[in-house]
Amino acid sequence: MTENRLRQILQRIDGRGYKAYKDLEGEFDFGDFTLSIDHVQGDPFASPSRLSVFLPDSVAQFPGQFTAPRHRRVAVGDFLSRAFHAAVNRHSKRRLGTGRSGEIYIDSGGQEVLERSSVLFGSDGVEARFYAGLPAAGRRVLGRQAEEMLCSEIPKIVSDSLMFRNLSSEELDCHVRVVEDQEALRGQLKERGLVTFVGNASTLPRRSGVDDRPLRQARSQVVVPFQTPPELEVELDRPGSGPITGMGIPEGVTLIVGGGYHGKSTLLRAIERGVYNHVPGDGREFTVTVSSAVKIRAEDGRYVEKVNIASFIDNLPYGRDTKRFSTDNASGSTSQAANIVEALEAGSKLLLIDEDTSATNFIIRDARMQALVEKSKEPITPFLDRVKDLKEELGTSTILVMGGCGDYFDVADRVIMMDGYRPSCVTEKAKEVVARFPTHRKVEGRGGFGEVGSRCPLQRGFDASRGRRDVKIDAKGLGTILYGVNNIDLSALEQLVDTSQTRAIGEAIHFFARNCASKGMSIHEGLQFLDEELGRKGLDILKPFKAGNLARPRIQEIAFAMNRLRTLKVE
Ligand code: ADP
Ligand code: MG
Repeated sequence: MTENRLRQILQRIDGRGYKAYKDLEGEFDFGDFTLSIDHVQGDPFASPSRLSVFLPDSVAQFPGQFTAPRHRRVAVGDFLSRAFHAAVNRHSKRRLGTGRSGEIYIDSGGQEVLERSSVLFGSDGVEARFYAGLPAAGRRVLGRQAEEMLCSEIPKIVSDSLMFRNLSSEELDCHVRVVEDQEALRGQLKERGLVTFVGNASTLPRRSGVDDRPLRQARSQVVVPFQTPPELEVELDRPGSGPITGMGIPEGVTLIVGGGYHGKSTLLRAIERGVYNHVPGDGREFTVTVSSAVKIRAEDGRYVEKVNIASFIDNLPYGRDTKRFSTDNASGSTSQAANIVEALEAGSKLLLIDEDTSATNFIIRDARMQALVEKSKEPITPFLDRVKDLKEELGTSTILVMGGCGDYFDVADRVIMMDGYRPSCVTEKAKEVVARFPTHRKVEGRGGFGEVGSRCPLQRGFDASRGRRDVKIDAKGLGTILYGVNNIDLSALEQLVDTSQTRAIGEAIHFFARNCASKGMSIHEGLQFLDEELGRKGLDILKPFKAGNLARPRIQEIAFAMNRLRTLKVE
């Protein structure tokens, strides 16, 4: 159908009941691009209608260098979704109308550059998927307004944001280069024996707990740029911007110590987020971490299904089995133990732990407590006595923020001290302290860490149906997935950054149930398979229709969510 046909339909249905908008579903040729009205909302208050546009390469005209490799396409797609969003703000008028009349919305990112389903960029062209509230007065179609929106605003937005010649090529180049540099930096970690790299001059602190943009220097606010201690200085290559020096933390056990309010948690949080690429100007765009890194914390109240936590917790009262530990209501220490074992099960090579969010009795058990409560009466083997086993047996490193207990000096490969937001390396001093003040603590947990099991979820543990619908999955904000009649609580998932990831995780669990649990795959196998499929075919494998509001999660986050589905059952 042509654009003219679209105008005719709108003139014909003007003033009729809202359902008449259904006549719009279909594709319209606008010359430069195709507008596809994929789904029309049922009424003015329902979620907005789903639309998409496609521009062939002959119109969009992006130079060939952007289309490969894959992370360049992702970076361009991310850039275009932000450009589209900005163009909506320029061209879309606020309208008086019922419900969400006249709203145009595209899913675009915050500080991270994620693979999204909102803009798909490739060698054949650009597809942008967005949402629009079709205008209404009460329940009547406002045809003229719809015509203005669809036939005048959208072409302007498309032209401004999806055609190469109308974009700032400087900004686009910078965006792609900075993403590519981060990929390259992360790619060098393993061969250099590092788990994370924090570039000099990085800005790590954020504006506030609810604002992830970089803290700004002001008269009453100093911002201390990051500077590596000389002992940990390394130089890495950036293909787009040349070499960069910064702090490289090697594999092993690393302690971050220092007084309260000296920037320990801020450094750890930047390391946590280093699994993602950041936008230029974020301040953390040259801070990268091995991609399997997992933040571990205590999370009492969580559900646990047959996790082998025996390396940490054994001999529970009344003979409860900890090789297959299950509970509807974990304690601080059992939850933290389960979180670690599940992270290992999902293949994590770096654990990130902050004393602020840990269970004390899981982290330490000092000599005096050992003397008072003998080992046979204490089920917990503290993390202190396992952290070296994790490295030696499984190759999993740990970075631990610890301001309150020096017992970890015994097991740390290196100690970094934060002082006024400046790191220094105090490993030698810590060794002197160990020699001068022996703790006389008994080492617990002999016999090594042992096997990390591999669990196979049963298909019957996944039921996404709700009422008359076979599948009802949605995200409620960043921290909750609605999965059938169950809610999955992700509020403790600190490396989740985007609601569109939350949505994708819900769908990914459903994918796992249909394609992996049905074949008896373990969590690790299934998630590996899913990740490969996502890499090959994109986010569209998660939904039966073209969704524009998904962002790619890591398998670590999917595993985390699946493990908290309260109906999960494993063999
Ligand atoms: P700690 O964990 O050592 O108690 P935090 O990391 O929570 O300390 O940091 C304390 C405060 O200092 C936070 O408000 C944080 O935003 C701020 N901050 C951290 N690093 C810097 C920095 N490099 N420059 C300025 N302020 C910082
Ligand atoms: Mg802290």
